[in-house]
Amino acid sequence: MSEQRTYIVLLGVPGAGKGTQAKLLEQALGLPQISTGDIFRYNLKHETELGKLAKSYMDRGDLVPDEVTIRMVEERLQQPDCARGAIMDGFPRNLVQAAAFDKMTAPYGGVKVAPLIQVDDEETIRRITGRRTCRTCGAVYHILYNPPKVAGVCDIDGGELYQREDDKEETVRNRLYVYYKQTAPLIGYYFAKGLLREIDGTQSIEEVQNALIAVIREAQPA
Ligand code: ADP
Ligand code: AMP
Ligand code: ZN
Repeated sequence: MSEQRTYIVLLGVPGAGKGTQAKLLEQALGLPQISTGDIFRYNLKHETELGKLAKSYMDRGDLVPDEVTIRMVEERLQQPDCARGAIMDGFPRNLVQAAAFDKMTAPYGGVKVAPLIQVDDEETIRRITGRRTCRTCGAVYHILYNPPKVAGVCDIDGGELYQREDDKEETVRNRLYVYYKQTAPLIGYYFAKGLLREIDGTQSIEEVQNALIAVIREAQPA
């Protein structure tokens, strides 16, 4: 049998706080965050073939086709920084991707735990519409809840903060629709495997982080 790895799947509606928490978990656990959204945005910015393909789907708030997304994740997981596992943020996003991820991770013990960060729709819309993202490092802020030290400037690298095109209201509505239709079934999928852990996402960033670390440690005794 191959060695065990720690694969954590963060679940939650867009705006629940997955990216914010994944970045903090990277430091706490020493595992890389794999955000498929960040990888797509990087490719968009650099106008790669993948970026050109993904653009129309992202602009509408639809999912990029599974075949492309799954291949991209497979390649990412082969990088040396993923040798102990990874924190999945935004993947899997439907049942086809979840089955593919089970296959990819099966030789290493599969998914360890799938924490679901829960917030209601009103809060998620407040979070998404106030979200600002760093153009250079992808760090995430909120104009009210988690503001940078200097307005419009990233604390980490001084990069410009911008509002994602798909964080504007019309697209947000479709993203929520896509979430409930395609991604929410994953809640039942991981529940049935005994891997789902519900976390109250309306708490402060620090409290959510502590709750996450607790369920991860419980799933993965040191
Ligand atoms: P997701 O990755 O799930 O789409 P993000 O991590 O980007 O969500 O968070 C969405 C927005 O909500 C960001 O502007 C972030 O700063 C803010 N946010 C995240 N967690 C909290 C929290 N616990 N309380 C208040 N605001 C939060
Ligand atoms: P996110 O940064 O997670 O909010 O994702 C932004 C956009 O990237 C989504 O609305 C999709 O268009 C695309 N995307 C991100 N992750 C996936 C995925 N796992 N499958 C398909 N499309 C994705
Ligand atoms: Zn930055």
